Amino acid sequence: MEAVTVMEAVTVMEAVTVMEAVTVMEASNKREDGTRLMEDKELIREAYKAQKYSYSPYSGFQVGAALLGKSGCVYTGCNIENAAYSPTNCAERTAFFKAVSVGEREFEKIVIVGNKEGGLDEERDYCAPCGVCRQVMAEFCNPKEFMVLLAKSETDYRTYRLEELFPLSFSKDNL
Ligand SMILES: [Zn+2]
Repeated sequence: MEAVTVMEAVTVMEAVTVMEAVTVMEASNKREDGTRLMEDKELIREAYKAQKYSYSPYSGFQVGAALLGKSGCVYTGCNIENAAYSPTNCAERTAFFKAVSVGEREFEKIVIVGNKEGGLDEERDYCAPCGVCRQVMAEFCNPKEFMVLLAKSETDYRTYRLEELFPLSFSKDNL
Protein backbone atom coordinates (compact mmCIF):
# COMPACT_ATOMS: atom_id res chain seq x y z
CA MET A 1 0.00 0.00 0.00
CA GLU A 2 1.28 3.43 -0.87
CA ALA A 3 1.90 5.84 1.95
CA VAL A 4 -0.88 8.41 2.19
CA THR A 5 0.01 12.01 2.90
CA VAL A 6 -2.25 14.22 4.94
CA MET A 7 -2.99 16.49 2.00
CA GLU A 8 -4.02 13.57 -0.21
CA ALA A 9 -6.36 12.29 2.47
CA VAL A 10 -7.74 15.74 3.17
CA THR A 11 -8.43 16.24 -0.52
CA VAL A 12 -10.27 12.96 -0.75
CA MET A 13 -12.32 13.58 2.35
CA GLU A 14 -13.41 17.16 2.08
CA ALA A 15 -16.38 16.72 4.37
CA VAL A 16 -14.52 15.26 7.33
CA THR A 17 -12.30 17.03 9.80
CA VAL A 18 -8.55 16.67 9.64
CA MET A 19 -8.44 14.64 12.84
CA GLU A 20 -10.95 12.22 11.34
CA ALA A 21 -8.73 12.02 8.28
CA VAL A 22 -5.75 11.31 10.52
CA THR A 23 -7.66 8.46 12.14
CA VAL A 24 -8.51 6.99 8.76
CA MET A 25 -4.92 7.24 7.63
CA GLU A 26 -3.74 5.63 10.83
CA ALA A 27 -5.85 2.63 10.03
CA SER A 28 -4.74 2.59 6.40
CA ASN A 29 -1.11 2.75 7.40
CA LYS A 30 -1.14 -0.49 9.37
CA ARG A 31 -1.17 -4.13 8.45
CA GLU A 32 -3.91 -6.43 9.76
CA ASP A 33 -1.62 -7.47 12.60
CA GLY A 34 -1.25 -3.82 13.59
CA THR A 35 2.35 -3.35 12.50
CA ARG A 36 3.26 -0.30 10.49
CA LEU A 37 3.51 -0.38 6.72
CA MET A 38 5.87 2.56 6.68
CA GLU A 39 9.37 1.22 6.24
CA ASP A 40 12.42 3.48 6.15
CA LYS A 41 12.71 3.29 2.38
CA GLU A 42 9.09 4.33 1.97
CA LEU A 43 9.63 7.33 4.24
CA ILE A 44 12.76 8.20 2.24
CA ARG A 45 10.67 8.05 -0.93
CA GLU A 46 8.19 10.49 0.62
CA ALA A 47 11.03 12.87 1.50
CA TYR A 48 12.27 12.83 -2.10
CA LYS A 49 8.75 13.53 -3.33
CA ALA A 50 8.52 16.53 -0.99
CA GLN A 51 11.92 17.77 -2.15
CA LYS A 52 10.45 18.32 -5.60
CA TYR A 53 8.29 21.11 -4.13
CA SER A 54 11.30 22.96 -2.69
CA TYR A 55 11.06 26.71 -3.21
CA SER A 56 14.73 27.65 -3.19
CA PRO A 57 15.42 30.25 -5.87
CA TYR A 58 18.20 31.92 -3.85
CA SER A 59 20.33 29.05 -2.58
CA GLY A 60 19.37 26.45 -5.17
CA PHE A 61 19.65 23.94 -2.33
CA GLN A 62 16.59 21.72 -2.33
CA VAL A 63 15.54 19.93 0.83
CA GLY A 64 12.76 17.47 1.51
CA ALA A 65 11.61 15.91 4.76
CA ALA A 66 9.16 13.19 5.75
CA LEU A 67 8.10 13.04 9.38
CA LEU A 68 6.45 9.91 10.77
CA GLY A 69 3.98 10.56 13.58
CA LYS A 70 3.20 7.97 16.21
CA SER A 71 -0.30 7.80 14.73
CA GLY A 72 1.30 6.31 11.62
CA CYS A 73 0.69 9.43 9.55
CA VAL A 74 3.41 10.97 7.41
CA TYR A 75 3.89 14.73 7.17
CA THR A 76 6.11 15.99 4.40
CA GLY A 77 7.90 19.31 4.04
CA CYS A 78 10.24 21.24 1.78
CA ASN A 79 12.39 24.30 2.33
CA ILE A 80 10.63 27.55 1.46
CA GLU A 81 12.94 30.51 0.88
CA ASN A 82 12.13 34.21 0.87
CA ALA A 83 13.62 37.29 -0.77
CA ALA A 84 14.09 38.78 2.70
CA TYR A 85 16.01 35.61 3.68
CA SER A 86 15.10 35.44 7.39
CA PRO A 87 11.46 34.34 6.79
CA THR A 88 12.84 31.22 5.09
CA ASN A 89 11.57 27.96 6.55
CA CYS A 90 13.40 24.64 6.50
CA ALA A 91 11.87 21.42 5.21
CA GLU A 92 12.02 19.82 8.64
CA ARG A 93 10.13 22.63 10.34
CA THR A 94 7.60 22.73 7.52
CA ALA A 95 6.86 19.07 8.23
CA PHE A 96 6.68 19.56 12.00
CA PHE A 97 4.43 22.60 11.78
CA LYS A 98 2.08 20.85 9.36
CA ALA A 99 1.81 17.94 11.79
CA VAL A 100 1.31 20.00 14.93
CA SER A 101 -1.25 22.19 13.17
CA VAL A 102 -3.50 19.17 12.60
CA GLY A 103 -3.15 17.80 16.09
CA GLU A 104 -0.20 15.39 15.92
CA ARG A 105 2.39 15.97 18.65
CA GLU A 106 4.22 12.68 19.04
CA PHE A 107 6.73 11.48 16.49
CA GLU A 108 8.90 8.49 15.72
CA LYS A 109 11.36 9.59 13.08
CA ILE A 110 12.14 12.04 10.30
CA VAL A 111 13.91 11.53 7.00
CA ILE A 112 15.86 14.45 5.52
CA VAL A 113 17.20 14.62 1.96
CA GLY A 114 18.91 17.58 0.34
CA ASN A 115 21.15 18.53 -2.51
CA LYS A 116 21.95 21.36 -4.87
CA GLU A 117 19.42 21.77 -7.67
CA GLY A 118 20.52 19.94 -10.80
CA GLY A 119 23.17 17.96 -8.92
CA LEU A 120 23.93 14.41 -9.89
CA ASP A 121 22.58 11.58 -7.76
CA GLU A 122 26.11 10.32 -7.09
CA GLU A 123 27.10 13.77 -5.79
CA ARG A 124 24.45 13.71 -3.09
CA ASP A 125 25.65 14.00 0.48
CA TYR A 126 23.92 13.46 3.80
CA CYS A 127 21.93 16.59 4.67
CA ALA A 128 21.88 17.29 8.41
CA PRO A 129 19.27 19.51 10.07
CA CYS A 130 20.21 23.03 11.13
CA GLY A 131 20.33 24.04 14.77
CA VAL A 132 16.92 25.73 14.70
CA CYS A 133 15.26 22.57 13.40
CA ARG A 134 17.02 20.46 16.03
CA GLN A 135 15.55 22.80 18.66
CA VAL A 136 12.06 22.34 17.19
CA MET A 137 12.50 18.56 17.18
CA ALA A 138 13.52 18.74 20.85
CA GLU A 139 10.28 20.56 21.67
CA PHE A 140 8.13 17.63 20.57
CA CYS A 141 10.38 14.57 20.69
CA ASN A 142 12.17 12.53 23.31
CA PRO A 143 15.84 12.99 22.30
CA LYS A 144 16.64 9.45 23.44
CA GLU A 145 13.99 7.92 21.17
CA PHE A 146 13.38 10.18 18.18
CA MET A 147 15.35 9.05 15.12
CA VAL A 148 16.79 11.32 12.42
CA LEU A 149 17.56 9.62 9.12
CA LEU A 150 19.86 11.39 6.67
CA ALA A 151 19.42 9.79 3.27
CA LYS A 152 21.36 9.86 0.01
CA SER A 153 19.12 7.23 -1.57
CA GLU A 154 16.47 4.72 -0.53
CA THR A 155 19.18 2.33 0.59
CA ASP A 156 22.03 4.64 1.60
CA TYR A 157 21.19 6.48 4.80
CA ARG A 158 22.52 7.17 8.28
CA THR A 159 20.40 6.98 11.41
CA TYR A 160 20.94 9.10 14.52
CA ARG A 161 19.09 9.61 17.76
CA LEU A 162 18.19 13.25 18.31
CA GLU A 163 20.33 13.31 21.46
CA GLU A 164 23.39 12.50 19.31
CA LEU A 165 22.71 15.50 17.07
CA PHE A 166 21.56 17.83 19.82
CA PRO A 167 23.29 17.10 23.15
CA LEU A 168 22.81 19.27 26.24
CA SER A 169 19.76 20.86 24.69
CA PHE A 170 17.49 23.35 26.41
CA SER A 171 13.91 22.13 26.55
CA LYS A 172 10.67 22.43 28.47
CA ASP A 173 12.20 20.07 31.03
CA ASN A 174 14.50 22.93 32.05
CA LEU A 175 11.63 25.25 32.88
ZN1 LIG B 1 16.50 23.87 9.65
